[in-house]
Amino acid sequence: MNSLRFPSLVFSLMVLTSAVCSIHAQPINPLVREGVTEKISEHVHVIPDASVPLVPNVGIIVGTHGTFVIDTGLGERNGQTVLREVAKVSRNTELHLATTHFHPEHDLGASAFPANTDMIRSRDQQKDIDEFGLQLAQSFSSRSPYSAALLKGAEFRKANTFFEKEHTVDLGGVQVHLIAMGANHTRGDTAFWIEPDGVLFSGDIVMKPQPAFASPYSSLRHWLESLDTLQKLQPKRIVPSHGPMGDGALIAGYRAYLTGIQTRTVALKKEGKSADQAVETIATEMQKQYPDRGRLTGAVRAAYAEAP
Ligand SMILES: [Zn+2]
Repeated sequence: MNSLRFPSLVFSLMVLTSAVCSIHAQPINPLVREGVTEKISEHVHVIPDASVPLVPNVGIIVGTHGTFVIDTGLGERNGQTVLREVAKVSRNTELHLATTHFHPEHDLGASAFPANTDMIRSRDQQKDIDEFGLQLAQSFSSRSPYSAALLKGAEFRKANTFFEKEHTVDLGGVQVHLIAMGANHTRGDTAFWIEPDGVLFSGDIVMKPQPAFASPYSSLRHWLESLDTLQKLQPKRIVPSHGPMGDGALIAGYRAYLTGIQTRTVALKKEGKSADQAVETIATEMQKQYPDRGRLTGAVRAAYAEAP
């Protein structure tokens, strides 16, 4: 088991690396932007990422007595930017923070938040941190001087609230429901359902860009079940952790992509094709519609491993 897991982790990092690098050969400074915070519903504000790699969409949910932040940006400097934007839309001193997953641009700005912040993690997210630590942060830093500067000295902030499957925070007039989604992009993927606004923060589980199978624990089967779970909420608005916001069409897009790959991979495996042959065939067939070959490759390999 261990001998299998290590190569799959290395492979996952390669997929993620290639996925990030294929978009911008030249690294750009991944800074959360100031002064662009958008109010998208009665209680929800978003700092949009403008689709800049290694910048997340940041959520700020404001109730009558509490404020909740989703994702921090890469490193403490970005976390400080987020806090300045929070101060523009809320005067609450009760502050909650959680992240869609433990990857550096979502989580490693948490140290900027005040000491009284309620940092919330699922048990699965903590497992990711315990197992993989700062590996990806080191990889980002080795590839870009900007990331290296932003991540200098970065550490994971210790959570003071843990949950297993679900956790609800009442901010006064608005509730944030945190849902531990199991292994999709990472084992600790967390989705956030905001009531009564009908806004879903979907993390990397539903986005416009292709999904990245970055966790050695992920499967297409489970990812499709996750889409079912999120669809049942009937979100009016979806804020993914990267790229443009949207509605249920984003879920349908991921479903089409994953079922397409799954069906084709099962058929090729049945014909006796190897995993490499399946990757070559399917990536070539689909690349016109889905340009990120690294992510296509990751999805086909995951589909092949779980195909009968
Ligand atoms: Zn990620």
